[in-house]
Amino acid sequence: MHPFPLAFAVQANQLVVGGERVGALVERVGSTPLYVYDRAVMSERIATLRQALPAGLHLHYAVKANPMPAVLRHLAGCVDGFDVASGGELTLALEAGMAAQRISFAGPGKRREELEQAVAAGVQISVESESQLAAVAQVGARFGLRPRVAIRVNPDFELKSSGMRMGGGASPFGIDAERLPILLSRLDGEVLDFRGLHVFAGSQNLSAVAIAEAQQHTLALAGRLAEHVPGPLHSLNLGGGFGIPYFPGDRPLDLAEVGARLAQSMMPMPPALRETQLIIELGRYIVGEAGLYLCRVLERKVSRGQCFLITDGGLHHHLAASGNLGQVIRKNYPVVVANRVISSEPETPATVVGPLCTPLDRLAVDMPLGHARVGDLIGILQSGAYGLTASPTGFLSHPLPQEVLV
Ligand SMILES: *Cc1c(COP(=O)(O)O)cnc(C)c1O
Repeated sequence: MHPFPLAFAVQANQLVVGGERVGALVERVGSTPLYVYDRAVMSERIATLRQALPAGLHLHYAVKANPMPAVLRHLAGCVDGFDVASGGELTLALEAGMAAQRISFAGPGKRREELEQAVAAGVQISVESESQLAAVAQVGARFGLRPRVAIRVNPDFELKSSGMRMGGGASPFGIDAERLPILLSRLDGEVLDFRGLHVFAGSQNLSAVAIAEAQQHTLALAGRLAEHVPGPLHSLNLGGGFGIPYFPGDRPLDLAEVGARLAQSMMPMPPALRETQLIIELGRYIVGEAGLYLCRVLERKVSRGQCFLITDGGLHHHLAASGNLGQVIRKNYPVVVANRVISSEPETPATVVGPLCTPLDRLAVDMPLGHARVGDLIGILQSGAYGLTASPTGFLSHPLPQEVLV
């Protein structure tokens, strides 16, 4: 059915999420469209990560991948920390029960109120520029506090074959590595509680070799930079970038290979990093495969020989599946008829669209879904990350979908 293994089983020809068949699940929730997230899949991903990665490494969750409060409450008990990228996410992280000392706050362009919130809460601020560093110091002085800071480094290398590259050249993220020796040696430990370094070089990468190379470069770079720090380097956030398969031909990331190569890169550790806590921060790898977007077929329409399934869901809820969230060429996400997975008749192609009055609103193009009937549920897999909150929900003023954690 699909070129890679899916996180959900099929029972009585229906997808099963969190032990429930989708038909019963939708009846219980009461309406479509909806996002459903399976907590067992998240826990399983985390267990797999912990097993594959070197012991003692800390695992952080990047909240922007999926900030649903119930998801955060679940993950707060499974990971070692949260990474947030706004004052709003910081509030969600604290409300989910994550301890302030285990939260780090990244992002260019932090507003004064956000810095004040972060300093007062005592979270670690990943500083992205020299002027942000000065602003944090000012807030600390005004509050009579010593803000906890890490410096985000704009590395002098890139994460190769990455979905989104964020290093190697000019960047709004982090401080250029070559400026850091002087900046680090001048840090005033009385004003700032300097904790460590943060390097995030890219996202959605399926190559273990590329990820391992970036990690190796990060360790070497941090090892050199740490020698300029007056005190010890408490933590080093190595970034993440672990991808998940979305499209035909995507091969799942070889996690064992990533772990083995990282262990190798840590032997020996650069002397300045021997006491340093290493951190990996991941978003989509933890939640992406745990999520399913479900919408209902409102109409089945044939136009000039092509079958269109018109649904109550669309790009206003799931921009990424429509191909409009940064993709260069539109490719189909894995999409199934969730309550009638396998057709009893020979399969015919169909295109799944939403209710929006724009030709961009396509959730699947020419996929073998032609057996779907009016009232059936279309399920988009790999939808747990960058789904609802990465979509233009105000566009065309349709209702919001529900979100449920099972
Ligand atoms: C978005 C982001 C992440 C998470 O990226 P994923 O591809 O979802 O794993 C991690 N760290 C930082 C700094 C980010 O901005």
